[in-house]
Amino acid sequence: MIDAGAWIQGNADILIQATTEALSNNRAIQSQVSEAVDGFYRALLRAIVTFDPTPLYTVLFDWVEARTGPIDQDSASLMPVLARIKRAIAEQVIHHCEPEDAVRVLLTIDRVMTDALVFLAQVETETLMAATRAQVQAAQLELEQVNKTKTDFIAIAAHELKTPLTVVEGYTSMMQSYARESSDDLLNTYVEGIEKGMGRLHELIDDVVDVSLLDLGMFDLHFQPVLLHPLLDSIQYMVNDHVLTEREITFTVDRESIPRYPTIGDPGQLLKVLEKVIMNALKYTPDGGNVLVYARDFPGFGFIDLMVEDSGIGIDPANLTRIFNAFSGVGDANLHSSGKVKFKGAGPGLGLPIAKGIIEAHGGTIWAESAGYNEETCPGSTFHIMIPMHS
Ligand code: ADP
Repeated sequence: MIDAGAWIQGNADILIQATTEALSNNRAIQSQVSEAVDGFYRALLRAIVTFDPTPLYTVLFDWVEARTGPIDQDSASLMPVLARIKRAIAEQVIHHCEPEDAVRVLLTIDRVMTDALVFLAQVETETLMAATRAQVQAAQLELEQVNKTKTDFIAIAAHELKTPLTVVEGYTSMMQSYARESSDDLLNTYVEGIEKGMGRLHELIDDVVDVSLLDLGMFDLHFQPVLLHPLLDSIQYMVNDHVLTEREITFTVDRESIPRYPTIGDPGQLLKVLEKVIMNALKYTPDGGNVLVYARDFPGFGFIDLMVEDSGIGIDPANLTRIFNAFSGVGDANLHSSGKVKFKGAGPGLGLPIAKGIIEAHGGTIWAESAGYNEETCPGSTFHIMIPMHS
């Protein structure tokens, strides 16, 4: 009676030769394969004799390590190799082992080889997962770097643009005094045009700087007690003065619904948010329509929901979230306008992302609701600005 260990030891040469041939018919690499197979049988023998699979696992682990490079076809699984070795052993046992010993020898080898297959599957899965994780991490890092370069570029370019702009603004202001003194109507009209264009350019550059700073997490807020009523007073003043002179829209602020107690926030930035959302409501509402600003107080939750409701063209449900992404391109590029209040005069798409960034930096949220986009039926939109209130 012979056991598996003794049988392998006694038949090592024929096992190595048969296995080498089963694994490769390329004579040029057969000596290399034979060396690896020899190492494998030594480890298998030790595992069987000592009842400890560690030596076999070490060999398999080294094979996986040697095989796995970057994820490509070269790092295919070693499972078929191990299965072929198992089959080669079985064939040799059947041919060369006494029938009364064959079953016992085969069962012992089969148990060790099955454990080896399970181990190999585990190691290969873990190795593949680690390689995939490393690739994803590298891609993420690269993406972050590209994003940072983009944002840095925008911030630097915007600052560089502001310097000459300030010089031009200075000269424009001097020209304006000169034009007024000269009472030359044509000159006054030209200077006014330049001034308007400069103002719009300044706002655009400020918006680009704001978006970059929000993106970089470098937006500075100066918190202090803020009352909403004075902010809405300035908006009302601006709308009366700059919008309602050009547009036929009913603009109402429901004062009763707005809390009279202060919140803690940055008044300048909160004013910017209200201005952007309200100006949009006016811009996307046709003449004859309404814009209403009102609030719902949630004292128990410490939030106020400030709403800007319009009877305008509405927003496609697919765009309700997208409009808050910078340069979302939701606005129709054909309608881009230098006018701030012109109906549907789309801009670069920075207003809402800035509003969102500022409100989120205050610990609040902003979102839009609309039944859909339709220029004929004008289903309207409602923007909710949820601000934490500190009474
Ligand atoms: P901009 O007005 O410069 O394009 P915004 O970020 O302010 O950029 O708005 C993004 C887009 O969201 C607009 O182009 C417009 O399509 C849509 N939008 C914003 N407010 C409204 C509104 N009240 N009604 C309909 N569409 C709106």
